[in-house]
Amino acid sequence: MATETKTHPVLCTQCRQPMDSPVCCAGCGALNALPPSMFTYFELFGIEQTYDVDPDELRRKYLDLSRSIHPDVAGRNSDQERKQALALSSGLNRAYDTLRNPVSRAEYLLQFAGGPSPADDKTVPGEMLAEVMMLREEIDEAARASDAAALKSIKADVTSRHDEALARITAICHGAGLADPAAQKELRQQLNAIKYWNNLLDQIPTPVET
Ligand SMILES: [Zn+2]
Repeated sequence: MATETKTHPVLCTQCRQPMDSPVCCAGCGALNALPPSMFTYFELFGIEQTYDVDPDELRRKYLDLSRSIHPDVAGRNSDQERKQALALSSGLNRAYDTLRNPVSRAEYLLQFAGGPSPADDKTVPGEMLAEVMMLREEIDEAARASDAAALKSIKADVTSRHDEALARITAICHGAGLADPAAQKELRQQLNAIKYWNNLLDQIPTPVET
């Protein structure tokens, strides 16, 4: 598979041992002089490139690496080393935020597979836009009338549509592969859809009685 091209494992420039993560050597603590942008987000954490990220493992690796690259760690005395630590740290934060969330993780995998970006393809599945417009009006009306029961029911409705889109995203990412243009197209549409559902959920005024 094309996604198997790996720059990793990288050898530590100081102690020449293979590095689990190309960010920082677990053996001697040396920082990698290469910019984090040279590695995939998965490579930065030394984990397999897959949608099925283990959130506990990811969090553990993130915390370990964050600790070991921290600019205030003993021995990082030169300005250059501190600058490098800051660059690695912000790269690591961006990678962690992207991979921990299933939607941005799917977006990242789609981008990696060469699929359409949100700017390339703004379409959504079927008649969804008409439905979103209707729901938007219902939210406005219920909010104007301070109709807590109606808002609660709309919220349940939109939440279930959101969850359906997320289930489709998961199913596509588990499927035959994101190299397939049809799978890429459907994933793009579902990722666009979930943005609409999230926006609608944001528009529902709180507090809504539960
Ligand atoms: Zn080392």
